[in-house]
Order: sequence, then C-alpha cells, then structure tokens
Amino acid sequence: MAGRECTHIETAIRRMEIPLGSRRCEECARAGGTWVALRMCTMCGHIGCCDSSPGRHAYAHYLSSGHPIVKTAEIGEDWMWCYRDEVAFSLKQVD
Ligand SMILES: [Zn+2]
Ligand SMILES: [Zn+2]
Ligand SMILES: [Zn+2]
Repeated sequence: MAGRECTHIETAIRRMEIPLGSRRCEECARAGGTWVALRMCTMCGHIGCCDSSPGRHAYAHYLSSGHPIVKTAEIGEDWMWCYRDEVAFSLKQVD
C-alpha cells in the first residue's frame, strides 16, 4: 500500500529520550544472551533487542503490551518503527 503512515503517533509516543544507563536488553542480559541492536518503546521506555537479535525482545514487548512504536536506541540513529503499521519514520521536528 503506497503512502502508508503510522496512525499511532499522537497516542503512542510519550518518550523520546533513551534513559542513561539502560543501553542493554534486560531480558537478554538475564539469560546470558547477546543482541545486535536495541530499541526503546516510546510508550513505557522498555528497552529490548531488535528483530535481527536472537531474542527479539522489542517485538516480544509489542506482542505482550500492545505498545506499537519503538525508537532506535543506537547512538547516531534517529528513527522509529511501528510494529502495527509496519512503517518506519522519524520525527525530528517534534520535541
Ligand atoms: Zn502505527
Ligand atoms: Zn533481548
Ligand atoms: Zn512499552
């Protein structure tokens, strides 16, 4: 579908800042696993690993919580992904 947009920007983005000291996937760390990259839930701030990681805990968090949008927690990256709409976007103009 062309021109697809996320319909949750108004309701699901409450946090933009990655919390200091949280640059790890707690679920992976607890299980002694490793991850590729981290994503933060923009509703509750949950940090989970990306879909290229074995644990896919960011996706697992979406499934269990229903929180649709994650933001990259990687330094130097600035984009978000909506699991429900399956669309990537960035919100540089919004504080
Ligand atoms: Zn969406
Ligand atoms: Zn993980
Ligand atoms: Zn969440």
